[in-house]
Amino acid sequence: MDSSVERSTEGQFDRRPLLVFWEMTKACQLACFHCRADAQLIGGPDELSTREGVELIDSIAALGRPRPILILTGGDCLMREDIVELATYAHSLNVPVAIAPSVTEKLTSSTLQALRRAGVKSASLSLDGANASTHDAVRGVTGHFDATLRAIVELKRHGFTTQINTTVMASNVRELADVAQLLQQLKVNVWEVFFLITTGRGAEVEATSATVNEEVCHFLVNASRYGFTVRTVEAPFFRRVALERRDQSPGGDPSGVGETYEFLRSRLLQLLGPSSAPVRAPSAATRDGKGIIFVGANGDIYPSGFLPIALGNVRNDNLIDVYRDHDLLHSIRGADFVGPCQSCEQSDLCGGSRSRAYATYENPLASDPGCVLVSGSSH
Ligand code: SF4
Repeated sequence: MDSSVERSTEGQFDRRPLLVFWEMTKACQLACFHCRADAQLIGGPDELSTREGVELIDSIAALGRPRPILILTGGDCLMREDIVELATYAHSLNVPVAIAPSVTEKLTSSTLQALRRAGVKSASLSLDGANASTHDAVRGVTGHFDATLRAIVELKRHGFTTQINTTVMASNVRELADVAQLLQQLKVNVWEVFFLITTGRGAEVEATSATVNEEVCHFLVNASRYGFTVRTVEAPFFRRVALERRDQSPGGDPSGVGETYEFLRSRLLQLLGPSSAPVRAPSAATRDGKGIIFVGANGDIYPSGFLPIALGNVRNDNLIDVYRDHDLLHSIRGADFVGPCQSCEQSDLCGGSRSRAYATYENPLASDPGCVLVSGSSH
């Protein structure tokens, strides 16, 4: 088994983030029931202006090489009329740009062409089930599943590196092998699997248990051998699982992981057959506030899009100064946690979801209850 998971990352992201997310707007024509942004039809009056967006890009470019990747997200980033202008400006300063649009009538061939010409290389779309009934129910739009599959094909046709984001919920977890098959058929480059945080509209959705999370992580190691890279969001313990698998069962299956894993493992084999390809689960040891920083629609700066503790605002504060100097981010990057996440030997490589710790305990330095090592402890 091959894996690029590294054991020590101390200090790696102290000076600069790897990813800067900018929620350009909260406006979106969809109303997905797990939406982090609580998206609405019309953007707020306090959204950053084009000029303020330019200044934000300037602050990222001022970091020099390697520049962080700027991810334009929302809401739906295509609801901003100036997205091509801002992407062009970022490209002119050698700031790599990725987009995370919604699948609506705004996602046209001409817009995609303009964004490619503006230098945008990567795009991510959400797919939350392996069939129309599951995905359309999440998105609240009949026909959205088919539209998303067409949009993936369109992104590939325009030459984008494609990423599919799937939120794992109790209601769709047993479809994950079927989703993996779809991604392989569509030649998707990256599968980014979100583990639900009960924030925004997601607060009303049933998340998976820590035990099931562990089983899904084992399944994702298997799935990463079928032609696409697998990453996780708000499940940094995936890196621990990938490392354990590399050390303990090179090339093989773990034993006794559990029924959900067994189901997904055998379903994947049934759909795609065995694979001798290496594991593709490269994971920079990021977590909320470590390698990641998030700028909300009104300019507020957060450790991530799922951790609603405002650290400053780009209208008054320099984004990079906040990233480097804020006490909370120092504690997060220093793995200054409470409970099992502090004593865990993978506290640096993983460190748990700070967002889930906050959503559960109102303490961003608490242990992540989504990890089986935490839920199984007396914490
Ligand atoms: S106990 Fe915390 S640091 Fe250790 S693997 Fe679990 S979430 Fe990660």
